[in-house]
Amino acid sequence: MISVQAAQQHILDRVTATAPPEIVPLPRALGRVLAEDVRAVFDVPPTDNSAVDGYAVSAADIPAAGQASLEVIADLPAGRVFPGVLRAGQAIRIMTGAPMPAGADTVYPQEIVQRDGARLAIPSLGRGANVRYRGEDVRAGEVILPAGSVLRPQELGVAASLGLPLLPVRQRPRVALLSTGDEVAEPGDERKPGQIYDSNRFSLRGLVEAAGGAVIDYGIVPDRFDELSARLTEAAGIADIVLTSGGVSVGDHDLVKAVLQESGGIDFWQVAMQPGRPLAVGRIGRAHFFGLPGNPVASMLTFHLFVRPALWKLAGRRELFPARFHALAAEPMRKKTGRREFKRGILAYTDRGWEVRTTGPQGSGILSSMVHADCFIVLEEERGDVATGERVWVEPFALS
Ligand code: AMP
Ligand code: MG
Repeated sequence: MISVQAAQQHILDRVTATAPPEIVPLPRALGRVLAEDVRAVFDVPPTDNSAVDGYAVSAADIPAAGQASLEVIADLPAGRVFPGVLRAGQAIRIMTGAPMPAGADTVYPQEIVQRDGARLAIPSLGRGANVRYRGEDVRAGEVILPAGSVLRPQELGVAASLGLPLLPVRQRPRVALLSTGDEVAEPGDERKPGQIYDSNRFSLRGLVEAAGGAVIDYGIVPDRFDELSARLTEAAGIADIVLTSGGVSVGDHDLVKAVLQESGGIDFWQVAMQPGRPLAVGRIGRAHFFGLPGNPVASMLTFHLFVRPALWKLAGRRELFPARFHALAAEPMRKKTGRREFKRGILAYTDRGWEVRTTGPQGSGILSSMVHADCFIVLEEERGDVATGERVWVEPFALS
């Protein structure tokens, strides 16, 4: 028996390569992993500019109390640069985003002044009010997006603000995906007596794609040694990761083991966790191999724990594990010591803070528990039964 943490460490130690880089246009870069640091080559914003629609003045003309009267000498829309210099007694009508005119250092919002033709009456105001300064967003020379960052909408916006139309990203790791089992039928096909529809290939496909991988679908492979062996070998020839579900336990027809024992380089682990104990991990040809359990919740959970960090490392990401935080148990939870247990949880914010309850029955075949859940509840190895009100770890699905 091996611990979850030891299994994760073994897996990550084996992932030494990173997917090669490619250049993609900004509109196609969402969710990709940056392959190189992005360094600002100029300040953003490039000039001091107005934060409001109003009037640019020089601090020397601001009255300490009462009002002062200035002459409005020009109109400055955003995108236009004032060619001259503001002199004593003058103001310039300025729009949000327009560069500060030379000689001006403060902007009056239009709401607090009175204008009468070319005359402008201004009250007292702090020097430098309503000015956005050159470089206050990004400084020239700064690494604003480090290599290994996942490109979210805000990273794309920052890259665009630096004028970059293309970004170097890591190629998506290729993940060959197949289901094993004579009992497994393709959705859309007729389901024969004794058969169930393949759910794993679809939830796993979603997990792979959400994690930034590209799926190569190898369909359903029956429990036949030759066919499984041929399909796995073929998949290993083109994929970075080969992912199967089913056939790794100790049943008569659990052939993944038998096939892979032939090719060597595979470990079969009983991981000290619930659900999802049997797991096959190793290499097949040049690909990383993960044989996940057949039970639908177990296959999703083992993906989350073991495959995704490997995929993320391959994709060049810096962060390999999801965020987690503490919540209070809203109900008692059964827990066996000596293994890490993962329950499907539902979070709620109450006057006691974050609380979590389970989705109900926690069988590893109850896939609908994943639908009702918004987090995994993670109960550590050494822990026993959990009483209401105890602190537990939760890993929200939406944060990963
Ligand atoms: P196995 O590890 O192959 O013995 O499978 C364990 C359990 O998971 C059995 O109840 C299988 O029917 C079920 N199972 C295996 N593969 C799938 C699949 N692709 N989709 C849904 N359930 C599956
Ligand atoms: Mg099977």
